[in-house]
Amino acid sequence: MPVDITQPYDPNNIFARILRGEIPARRVWEDDHAVAFEDIAPQAPTHVLVIPRGAYVSWDDFSDRASDKEIAGFVRAVGTVARMLGLDANGYRLLANIGSHGGQEVPHLHVHLFGGRPLGTMLA
Ligand code: IMP
Repeated sequence: MPVDITQPYDPNNIFARILRGEIPARRVWEDDHAVAFEDIAPQAPTHVLVIPRGAYVSWDDFSDRASDKEIAGFVRAVGTVARMLGLDANGYRLLANIGSHGGQEVPHLHVHLFGGRPLGTMLA
């Protein structure tokens, strides 16, 4: 089901449950602001999702309501994860799907981090 970004945050969405440790995930990195884990259906040799610890539905919600500290912490976290995975050597792709037209399926903000091979100019 595509995410309806006009709806309030659902505290029982799957990424909220991963954050609370209620369901397993292959965590690759975390700090006070963000958690990164492997995507369950990888679309590239490296496909990691980075999520903020705060309860935000989408990038739209996050950029509207999050504090400057949360935004800075999350943006830095994404870069840190990419470097930690060695993706800075050859480059990588960031993607945030937002709402139904953006193809968002999980209603907790996540940034996809793809790398490990040339990705072309667009994802299919
Ligand atoms: P979206 O379309 O941007 O919302 O992407 C959601 C992503 O979450 C997809 O790439 C899914 O493969 C991934 N995903 C869904 N459930 C899980 C899970 O339990 N663990 C890890 N990744 C998941």
